[in-house]
Amino acid sequence: MGLEGLPGVDQVIPISRPYKLASSELSHHEPTVFDVDGRRVGGGQTFCLIAGLCTVESPEQTLGVARAVAAAGASMLRGGAFKPRTSPFSFQGLGREGLRILADARAEVGLPIVSEMTSAQLADDFAEAVDVVQVGARNMQNYGLLEVAGKLGKPVLLKRGLSSTLEELLQAADYVLKEGNERVILCERGIRTFDTAMRFTLDLGAVPWLKLHTHLPVIVDPSHASGDRRLVGPLSRAAAAAGADGIIVEVAVDPDVALCDGPQQLYAADFARFAAEVAAHARLLGKKLA
Ligand code: PEP
Ligand code: MN
Repeated sequence: MGLEGLPGVDQVIPISRPYKLASSELSHHEPTVFDVDGRRVGGGQTFCLIAGLCTVESPEQTLGVARAVAAAGASMLRGGAFKPRTSPFSFQGLGREGLRILADARAEVGLPIVSEMTSAQLADDFAEAVDVVQVGARNMQNYGLLEVAGKLGKPVLLKRGLSSTLEELLQAADYVLKEGNERVILCERGIRTFDTAMRFTLDLGAVPWLKLHTHLPVIVDPSHASGDRRLVGPLSRAAAAAGADGIIVEVAVDPDVALCDGPQQLYAADFARFAAEVAAHARLLGKKLA
C-alpha cells in the first residue's frame, strides 16, 4: 500500500482487506504463538523443523526415519496416511493403519505428528491420532473441510493451493479461525507458473508478504515445491533467511523405493547435516530449533 510510505503518515489502517481474522491489522497486533507438545510455533524465537515421510508404507520405514529426524533435532514428524493422489490408480496411503503406525512412532521417539486430513469424515480419527492436522494444497478451498478442521481443537497446517493467491490463502485461514481455532500455520509449498523446470515455483516472497499481512506463523515446503532433493537444502536455507517460522521437508531412509515422491526426499543419512545448515541460517535471525 503506497500510503504507508508517505511523509506524515504514521499508520494506515485498512478496512477493506478481504481476510478479516487472519489479518494483522484488524483483529490482532501481536503475532500468534502456540506450542505443539512443547515445541513453540511462531513468535520469532524458534524455527520449526517438520520432517519425515511423504507416505507411511510400513512400521519399519516410519520408525527408521522417525529415529533419524528426532536424533537430528526435528521438531515434529510428518507422514501421510490418506494421500490426495492425482490419479485414483496411484497408491492412496495405508489409511487408518497409517495413522496407527504414526502414533506408534510418536510413542517411540516422542515427536508430535503432522498428517493430512483429506475428508471431513475422518475427523474423529485425526482428533485421536495426530497433533497437527494438515489441510493439503488441493483442499485449501474445501471450506467444509476447513470448518471441520477448525472445530477439532488441534493446530491446523494449511497449505497454499496450487494456483491460489495469498489473499485466497488468508481467506481460507479465516474459515478455520472463525471456528475459534487460533492455532493455524500457513505453508507456502510452490505454485503453478509458466515455468516447468521445477515441479512448482516456490514463492519465497510469500514469506515476507505474509509476515506483513497476517499474525499467523508461516512455514515453507521446499520438497513439494521443487520436486528435487538437490534443491531442498538451498531452498530451506533461503526460507529460514527470509524469515519463515519453519519448514516441512520429506525425508526417508531409502527414498529410492518410496511409492510416492521419492526424488524429492532427503536421505535420512544426510539429514543431520541438512538440519545443522538450516539451523545456522535460522540462528542468523535469532531463532533456535523448536
Ligand atoms: C503433502 O504434504 O503430503 C502434500 C501432498 O503436499 P501438498 O498438499 O502441498 O501437495
Ligand atoms: Mn509428498
